[in-house]
Amino acid sequence: MGLKLPPIKKFECTECKYADYRMSAREVGETIPGGCPRCDGNLRVAAEEIPDWLTRLIGLVAKKFEILDLVARRDRIELEVSSRRPRDAFRYLLRVLEKDGYLPVMREQDGELRLNLVRRPAVRKGRALTNVALFAATVVSTLVAGYYLFENSFTSAALFSSSLLAMLVAHEMGHKLSAWHNRVASTLPYFIPAPPPFPLGTFGAVINIKSPIPTKEALVEMGASGPITGFVFAVIITYIGLSLSGPSQLENPLPFVPVMFGLLQLITMGRVTSAFELNPLTFSGWVVMLLTMFNMIPVGQLDGGHIARAVLGRQRHYSLTRMLGFLLMFLGLAFPEMPIFFVWGLLILILFRGYHPGALDDVSPLSFRHKILAAAALAVFVLCLPLPVG
Ligand SMILES: [Zn+2]
Ligand SMILES: [Zn+2]
Repeated sequence: MGLKLPPIKKFECTECKYADYRMSAREVGETIPGGCPRCDGNLRVAAEEIPDWLTRLIGLVAKKFEILDLVARRDRIELEVSSRRPRDAFRYLLRVLEKDGYLPVMREQDGELRLNLVRRPAVRKGRALTNVALFAATVVSTLVAGYYLFENSFTSAALFSSSLLAMLVAHEMGHKLSAWHNRVASTLPYFIPAPPPFPLGTFGAVINIKSPIPTKEALVEMGASGPITGFVFAVIITYIGLSLSGPSQLENPLPFVPVMFGLLQLITMGRVTSAFELNPLTFSGWVVMLLTMFNMIPVGQLDGGHIARAVLGRQRHYSLTRMLGFLLMFLGLAFPEMPIFFVWGLLILILFRGYHPGALDDVSPLSFRHKILAAAALAVFVLCLPLPVG
């Protein structure tokens, strides 16, 4: 079928080497005074022919969008477009542009739909050796931690280490599966060992996302999949641990319990208490709920932050990040027995100074199903919040 392309001309700067392609009714030889974006020199129409790669890209865009304006160079094509179904149009482009090596980026600006095609960044393959070595080191450091935590018992150390790592692996696999599902490039998990004197043996694990996240839906899935999977494992392991646990002679071994932990105590022991025998499974479950809580704070690029960015949008997510960072620092000052709040708040303010880049399609709203998923993630966050106990 014959798609009618808008008239596009090649422009060249008369002063510097700058050149681009634009939609224009000007004839060859005419100029735009001061039009060069690089040196403010004059832009002159140099030719009426456009190269094949541009014809192809414009053809693909024109199949789904009406093109209102365009400025193109080899590595960046900027368009002003309109579409009655931008969500489907964007997904189509995302798919077909892959083999041309381009990514579409869609934003709404002053009520106008902006579409940029940018070069797909090259993804360097990481070396799995680092991931394997860090995992092995974390197995050792959690075994050592468990050995000291549980009165020099090898069995307890093994139970603590294996249950803790199982929950962390579940969390990271959740992320990994949704990355595969959404065709987002990501590394294997990096486990972070914490040798003595750190009491827990690990600071958790992270995977690095190496290519842009295509849609808000994918952003919610990427953020929610890890914590929800890890949380389900933590509930099962904590439940088993509490079922095996008797009353404690120790005085208040835990400063607080997460809400879900308290609910599981109600089911298994009939009351919420810190006076119970802390065995390796209950302790590793407690640790993972605590890590999940910190991960789900809806700020910056934490797991909860990705979800908040998709739900709230760029500016509100940014304001929330600032606000919660200061609130955590304030809580740390108000409760000096929990200095981690101060540290975490400060880290948030330092690490997440900039805006979250958001999804490539930052325009189409979330589907109902993904709003439910975001709500489920919020529920996990609330269930991991600390509940003070006597
Ligand atoms: Zn110039
Ligand atoms: Zn995570």
